[in-house]
Amino acid sequence: MTNEDAKVIPVRVALRCRPLVPKEINEGCQSCLTFVPNEPQVIVGTEKAFTYDYVFDPTSEQEEVFSTAISPLLNGIFKGYHATVLAYGQTGSGKTYSMGGTYTSAQENDPSVGVIPRVIRRIFEEKEKRADSEFCLAVSYLEIYNEDILDLLSSSKDKPAISIREDPKEGIKIVGLTERQVVSAPEMVGCLELGNSARTVGSTAMNAASSRSHAIFTITLEQRRGSDKVDSVVSKLHLVDLAGSERQKKTKAEGDRLKEGISINRGLLCLGNVISALGDESKKNAFVPYRDSKLTRLLQDSLGGNSHTLMIACVSPADSNMEETINTLRYADRARKIKNKPIVNVDPRAAEMNRLKQQV
Ligand code: ADP
Ligand code: MG
Repeated sequence: MTNEDAKVIPVRVALRCRPLVPKEINEGCQSCLTFVPNEPQVIVGTEKAFTYDYVFDPTSEQEEVFSTAISPLLNGIFKGYHATVLAYGQTGSGKTYSMGGTYTSAQENDPSVGVIPRVIRRIFEEKEKRADSEFCLAVSYLEIYNEDILDLLSSSKDKPAISIREDPKEGIKIVGLTERQVVSAPEMVGCLELGNSARTVGSTAMNAASSRSHAIFTITLEQRRGSDKVDSVVSKLHLVDLAGSERQKKTKAEGDRLKEGISINRGLLCLGNVISALGDESKKNAFVPYRDSKLTRLLQDSLGGNSHTLMIACVSPADSNMEETINTLRYADRARKIKNKPIVNVDPRAAEMNRLKQQV
């Protein structure tokens, strides 16, 4: 099957509203969101309603988010489809909490564990059930900060320069990034913890760098089936914790601060432009500016391409954040209009072997 005749599947959006945090309660904030029972709908203030694929109100637990919104994507990756989960929202809205970006193994059986550790557990459970297949699993973990790609799994002092290349058959490739082969869930969780701690160091050194960077945890799953193991598929799962979407205050920034401000806005601004170009019915075949930022280049396949994609739009319920919340709700609403065409990704080497076999 080629991408031309693949079924169109839109980007799905899960809205997630966290509870009021102590700071908001102390400041006397009220909730400005109402949730419609048994409907994936949220009402802001007294009138404006938004509908998504899923809506998780402040009482929803991590397990519910995982089993309703994430689980279907995992079924897909075992069939050879790529998948992407993007957490979007202003700083403090629950992106990192939802994704599991502060996970340490001390939390192992805690109900507050987020998406990534749950995904890891499920992948290895599913793998065990498929004794007839051979699996090869690898992970990478990167951060985009100031338009630089940082390798969160590399501890070496002189890290190789990382660059992005586009392969006509295999799509976007990141050259120079650590890709660690793993054979067990604890080993993969170890990579997550290692990368998470590399992020945290950044945030103490550089004033909330984590809210200014995008983090992408990628799992590559190679699966060989059949008696001669030539039936081979390769799928990628990107788990993305985006930078905080709040408008940068118009301070008189100079030098590094200014550069930082521009480049943060570059990734998110460009993501917004890509979403607009892809979601606008009247602009069919419009130019999509993927190349304007590293974030959108890396996510090219996840947006309007070959992937099952879910956006978790995170919001605070507090009335003091209402303006940012409405921005997030609108942004998420536009993302739902993006149409992807996911296909089963046959390993190009296996496909070539099959072709040669048939010729003989
Ligand atoms: P972000 O990554 O979007 O900046 P965080 O994930 O760090 O935000 O969340 C901000 C604070 O809110 C943290 O203290 C986090 O523990 C808390 N929080 C976020 N989502 C939830 C939730 N669903 N339930 C309980 N606490 C949450
Ligand atoms: Mg965060």
